[in-house]
Amino acid sequence: MGSMDSGIRDVRAGRLASGAYTEVFADLHPPLSRHEAFVESDRCYFCYDAPCMNACPTGIDIPLFIREIAADNPTGSAKTILSENILGGMCARVCPTETLCEQACVREVAEGKPVKIGLLQRYATDHLMANGQHPFKRAEPTGKSIAVVGAGPAGLSAAHRLAMHGHDVTIFEARPKAGGLNEYGIAAYKSVDDFAQKELDFILEIGGITIQNDKALGSDISLDALRAGFDAVFLGMGLPGVNDLGLEGEDAAGCIDAVDYIAVLRQSDNLSEIPVGRDVIVIGGGMTAVDVAVQTKLLGAENVIIAYRRGPENMNASDFEQELALKNGVIIRHWLQPRALTRNEHGEVCGITLDYTVMTDGRLGVSGESITLASDQIFKAIGQTPAEAILGEADLALSRGRISVDDEGRTSIPGIWAGGDCVADGEDLTVAAVQDGKIAAESIHRTLMQQPEKVSGFVEAIMADNSDGTSVPEQQPNHPSHLVS
Ligand SMILES: Cc1cc2nc3c(=O)[nH]c(=O)nc-3n(C[C@H](O)[C@H](O)[C@H](O)COP(=O)(O)OP(=O)(O)OC[C@H]3O[C@@H](n4cnc5c(N)ncnc54)[C@H](O)[C@@H]3O)c2cc1C
Ligand code: SF4
Repeated sequence: MGSMDSGIRDVRAGRLASGAYTEVFADLHPPLSRHEAFVESDRCYFCYDAPCMNACPTGIDIPLFIREIAADNPTGSAKTILSENILGGMCARVCPTETLCEQACVREVAEGKPVKIGLLQRYATDHLMANGQHPFKRAEPTGKSIAVVGAGPAGLSAAHRLAMHGHDVTIFEARPKAGGLNEYGIAAYKSVDDFAQKELDFILEIGGITIQNDKALGSDISLDALRAGFDAVFLGMGLPGVNDLGLEGEDAAGCIDAVDYIAVLRQSDNLSEIPVGRDVIVIGGGMTAVDVAVQTKLLGAENVIIAYRRGPENMNASDFEQELALKNGVIIRHWLQPRALTRNEHGEVCGITLDYTVMTDGRLGVSGESITLASDQIFKAIGQTPAEAILGEADLALSRGRISVDDEGRTSIPGIWAGGDCVADGEDLTVAAVQDGKIAAESIHRTLMQQPEKVSGFVEAIMADNSDGTSVPEQQPNHPSHLVS
């Protein structure tokens, strides 16, 4: 490290040979071949009361979909997955399976080698998306219309389930493209070949969903107008802001929001045009910190340091993510927190002073020692902030800035539901947002159709249509048969 004496920042595009970008940003977990999928599915014990299934936030019947792969019925397997999680293709790529289903797998507990559930899920969903038609049909039109705010995983999941129930859905999305963080946030090596847009197209095949891009709640539309114009509203606008470091000069060049930088990277069709520093420092300890650190390293940064104020066990990034960072040459420095930024004669940030931290009686404090590091780019990755300005005006009950909801996603205002990152106690995971959207959609449907009881047997109804292979439960009477193809 060290350009602070001169204060000249070394930030350049094209640090790699032009052909190298595709290779370094290749698929993090390449897909399984058919043979590999058979071998892997054969490792599953098809456990009764499977712990993997209980660990999946969307409750996918994991042993069933693996059994369907083993029986060479990937289409049926994909239907099993998608009936619970319509974004099962993206979740197969981005879920931290090492802390969810694969951590719970009995083979992980017994041998430290779980069944590769994520890759099997990808095998099945890729197969269906490449070869199949959309697996679900819409119910007869209900005449009800629902406004969805935000086209991220929560909004898309809600919209698909509502459309399937026969409602008309209009999604209002602030950005020019739909997909939310699937399109603008997930690390490039987790979602290659424009998969977010392919999955979006697949979801919209259900019909009955209209997306209005460049329409932001708060500036282009108001919640009152949505309530007046639609039978119900679902809010899934994520966390549009980014936390500040609270240091003087952080608005200057050289100090960058990690989420904004990643969005530019994800939208680029020529990564050799993305400027990157020689010396990079990332402040934070979560998935975003790891993602920006690894991606700047892949873009050719020489030295990338993640500075995190606590120990490794406190990092929100999973062990796998931390290892991924280390494998890519990122250095993780624990027990350091930012104190001040250094600026050069042009006013640009060219270094940072960090205090060493210590834990005393359970409280984090500073040790009195500090270190100053030169840096061409400093990335802020210390969490995102909710759209409090919009939400406050709407008079919704909030908890620490996020929307308070009950277990069906109902907000404090009748007729308005919410889910995903924008709600309190959200897990900030793609799969959790998908589940929130699904639960809220079912609740909206019940409310609009005045159904007192939860619609049950939905999954079984879909299973009954697995016409191409494995033995599946018979369709039960009273199941909503219009929901299957
Ligand atoms: C950099 C990064 C990497 C991540 N990596 C992973 C990962 O690998 N695995 C994982 O499981 N999770 C990951 N996450 C978390 C995951 O992406 C989120 O939990 C998930 O996207 C939340 O979905 P959502 O629909 O609630 O919000 P979002 O995906 O944020 O979508 C919200 C949508 O609402 C729109 N919107 C915002 N404000 C308005 C408005 N006023 N009016 C209209 N529309 C609006 C936004 O433009 C956006 O399209 C990552 C997050 C980040 C930031
Ligand atoms: S816990 Fe593991 S072995 Fe058991 S059903 Fe799930 S994936 Fe198969």
